[in-house]
Amino acid sequence: MEPDAFNEGYLTTRVDVVVNWARSNSLMPMPMGLACCAIEMMAFAAPKYDVARFGSEAMRFSPRQADLMIVAGWVSYKMAHAIRRVWDQMADPKWVIAMGACASSGGMHRCYGVVQGCDNFLPVDVYIPGCPPRPEAVIHALMDIQEKIRNEYSIARDGAVGEKHDPVEARRPKIITPDGDAVISPDRLYGQE
Ligand code: SF4
Repeated sequence: MEPDAFNEGYLTTRVDVVVNWARSNSLMPMPMGLACCAIEMMAFAAPKYDVARFGSEAMRFSPRQADLMIVAGWVSYKMAHAIRRVWDQMADPKWVIAMGACASSGGMHRCYGVVQGCDNFLPVDVYIPGCPPRPEAVIHALMDIQEKIRNEYSIARDGAVGEKHDPVEARRPKIITPDGDAVISPDRLYGQE
């Protein structure tokens, strides 16, 4: 009889797989609610959309307990310094979602006081279009981050945070084509395959 996990009482896997599985299913968001998008972000955690299904209902208002910053709303230059300070206090590994047109690009606020996209001072992982994006879009962004963690991260790199490494080799996200259903490798995209 073939051995199996249920009869034998054990299974084998890789530490990376277990760690990434646990990490991806227990992201703790830091809600950086700055404007109207924040209302949709609240809906994302409320019972109707119930982000507890993805293990991320525990919004944390201390940077030391959060690993996913959701920037929701336009960012003034004055506020950008505070956001960056919060981000710097979050422990690695950590991720950022730019929620809505304003956080992603400044949106309609083409003026001297508003930063034209929070990627000017944060390493954004996922951008959500819309004004405002629906809570489903925020859940979709969360699932993109989960997939990124499962496919990309390795505990071997945890100790190397801050060290020099090849950004292409170290960060190999799946690239989705515009029609959304085909996944192509970065090598093919960059013409190396
Ligand atoms: S994208 Fe729209 S809903 Fe979101 S903060 Fe900007 S104006 Fe408000």
